[in-house]
Amino acid sequence: MPETVFDRKPANSEATHASWTNAREGSFWLVGVDVQIGDHAGPTGGSVDLVVVGAGFTGLWTAIRAKERTPDRSVLVINMDSGVGMRASGQNGGFLEASLTHGRLNGETRFPHEIDRLDDLGRQNLDGIEATVSRYGWDCDFERPGTLLVATEPHQLEWCEGDEVLDQDQVRRVLNSPTFVGGAIERTDSALVHPGKMVAEMLRTARELGVEFMVGRVTRVVNSGDTVTVLMESGDGIVAGRVALATNVFPSVLRRFRWHVVPVYDHVLMTEPLTPEQWESIGWDGREGVSDMGNQFHYYRRTMDGRILWGGYDAAYTPGADPDRTRFANNPAVFQLLAEHFFVTFPQLEGLKFTHRWSGAIDTCSRFSVFFGSARRGRVAYAAGYTGLGVAATRFAADTMLDMLDGADTERTRLRMVRSLPIPFPPEPFRYPLISIVKWSMRRADRNEGRRNLLLRTLDALGLGFDS
Ligand SMILES: Cc1cc2nc3c(=O)[nH]c(=O)nc-3n(C[C@H](O)[C@H](O)[C@H](O)COP(=O)(O)OP(=O)(O)OC[C@H]3O[C@@H](n4cnc5c(N)ncnc54)[C@H](O)[C@@H]3O)c2cc1C
Repeated sequence: MPETVFDRKPANSEATHASWTNAREGSFWLVGVDVQIGDHAGPTGGSVDLVVVGAGFTGLWTAIRAKERTPDRSVLVINMDSGVGMRASGQNGGFLEASLTHGRLNGETRFPHEIDRLDDLGRQNLDGIEATVSRYGWDCDFERPGTLLVATEPHQLEWCEGDEVLDQDQVRRVLNSPTFVGGAIERTDSALVHPGKMVAEMLRTARELGVEFMVGRVTRVVNSGDTVTVLMESGDGIVAGRVALATNVFPSVLRRFRWHVVPVYDHVLMTEPLTPEQWESIGWDGREGVSDMGNQFHYYRRTMDGRILWGGYDAAYTPGADPDRTRFANNPAVFQLLAEHFFVTFPQLEGLKFTHRWSGAIDTCSRFSVFFGSARRGRVAYAAGYTGLGVAATRFAADTMLDMLDGADTERTRLRMVRSLPIPFPPEPFRYPLISIVKWSMRRADRNEGRRNLLLRTLDALGLGFDS
């Protein structure tokens, strides 16, 4: 099979290995931020108007938007971790994309009749996040420097679309890598954030709005007359008017949705701060969020304190339903591969060290975008399936769940995207081999000028797929 640039090895293999082996394990974003929920035995009143299960971005947005929409509604967030945002919401790249559908192309394929509307709603959603950050004065490094897409293989040049299309010299003037052969800049439809600071600020604001928080694992939600009861692993039960399930990649409290999401592990490295000379050697004054264009792709960005986050490429599916029990988390082979790709991309940074390394589970569904469910006579709503693009879409999902729980007929609840479900994945023992062969096919397409084999073309035609 022909090579891609990422099949090459960096000049100094010892330095590459040494660059990441002493890196601290755990998300850089969660160091030094206060996300702790603290002790709280349960709701202060007898029953609660709205229980939110899960305190990542989806749960936090749902709680905040619920209070903003109806201030006198009592809201309790129950989270199984001791802090908010300790899973994907505190582990991600911090890229906010306006697209609700994992890109225009994916949305056009799956929702051709409403893609323009979905794109508008996505832009409104991103603007809504920016307005919220500014209204509450969230200190979360929010910035809108645009996105740089880079082609590292000639066949990717025809995919370069955006506000500015760049040839090889132009793209290397924006960000200097010998691997870039072209690129494109998209100026308006994205933003960057410090995810750890953002979840900490969301916790602060939610509390100021009167939201209560509690640590515990929810196991079931059952009907009880005109209300529902949220059953906890501890044996306690909490009576609630409405329940929003924001549990992402974790096994759904509603069993019927357990086949719709598979956990896919994505790895990330964070460098030490670069010196002024190192920054000069690569440029990047525009601070754009960057992504390369293969089926297997890297995402990378600057931080406010002068580091580079470098993640993606080799996402691995975890057999079994529980993402907590995985042999694919923090895989040394993947960190080594990521470090090799980093120094192939930026050979001028040889000697730079990574200070943090981590991995997180992505809630992959077969259509690559959030889906919704409801149960218990409309008193329970569920949202999951962001497939690696949930930092911004979680706010849209929160509003949609609240519409559903309020019984409101809105533009959102009428969307086909909201009313339809992705095709579920097959059970094991078929799932793992199927996903492995799809991954192999995607790797092969990257080495074969992007040409997709029969399996990928069939899955494309069926509207099925696998991505990080
Ligand atoms: C490495 C990585 C990089 C990513 N990069 C990006 C990116 O750059 N841009 C982007 O848009 N998206 C990215 N994503 C995806 C994005 O982070 C997620 O889509 C988003 O954070 C999902 O938020 P959430 O609140 O739904 O889930 P989570 O943050 O996973 O929160 C779920 C919460 O539910 C709780 N919970 C689960 N089950 C229960 C239960 N039974 N009882 C009580 N609590 C429960 C958990 O404790 C957790 O706090 C990335 C993801 C990963 C892992």
